Amino acid sequence: MSNLHNSAAQQQTETSASGNSANQAGLPNSLKITEIFYSLQGEGLTAGLPTVFIRLTGCPLRCTYCDTAYAFSGGSSMSVTEILAEVAPHQTPHVTVTGGEPLAQQACLGLLTALCDRGYQVSIETSGERDIGPLDARVIRVMDLKTPGSGEQHRNRLENIELLKPEDQVKFVLCSREDYLWARQMIADHGLEKRCHLLLSPAFGQVNPADIASWILADHLPVRLQLQLHKTLWGDEPGR
Ligand code: SF4
Repeated sequence: MSNLHNSAAQQQTETSASGNSANQAGLPNSLKITEIFYSLQGEGLTAGLPTVFIRLTGCPLRCTYCDTAYAFSGGSSMSVTEILAEVAPHQTPHVTVTGGEPLAQQACLGLLTALCDRGYQVSIETSGERDIGPLDARVIRVMDLKTPGSGEQHRNRLENIELLKPEDQVKFVLCSREDYLWARQMIADHGLEKRCHLLLSPAFGQVNPADIASWILADHLPVRLQLQLHKTLWGDEPGR
C-alpha cells in the first residue's frame, strides 16, 4: 500500500506524463464516466476485496437481465488525470473498470495503462463484444460470453477466446437450464478450462443458484459458481 501511494507531487507528475503520452499516441484522453465508487468486489476471483469501481458510460448491447441500464447514457466527461485523482484517496490496490461496455470508449485503453503504471491491480469487465487484443497486458480481463438467454449471443466476439490469459476470467450469466447447457458446450468446444478461470453466475432472480450448483457437481464442470455478493449485501442499489 505504501508503494502504491507516492507523494502527491510525484503522483501528479506521473499522472501528467500519462495524460501526455495518451495525447501523443493520438488517443482521446477524456472519458464519459457514470460513477466512481468504493465498495467490495461482488464478483469473480477477488470477490469480497475492497475495490474502486470506475463505471464508464455507454453500451451497445441490451442484455435481457441488464442491471446497469442507468449507465447507458449521460455521465460526466473526465480526463484520465481527474479519474486517477478520484481513485487514489480510497487507498486500495484493486481497481475495476466496468460499464456499460468500457471498451466502447477508445480512451479506456489509456486509462487502463495509466492505472497499471501506478501499481494498481486492474481488472476490466467487458461484454466480450469488443476486441480485447489492444488492452494493456497487465490488465485482468473478466469477459462475458453472452448466453442465448441474454438476447445478445450474436455479439460474442469469439476471436477474443484465443487472446485470453491464464489469469483472465470468462463469465457466463445463466438465465435457464438451456443457458447452462450452452455454456457447458462452449467450454468443451473451445477448451476454455485450459485457457482461464471460468465463472457461472445466475441471472438475478431467473434461475435458482442451487440448481446451477447441482448441475455443476453432476457434470464435474471445472467452473466456479459465482453469486453476486454486492446484491446479497445491498440489493440493486447503484454505486454499490
Ligand atoms: S453488456 Fe453489460 S451493461 Fe451492456 S446491456 Fe449487457 S449487462 Fe448491460
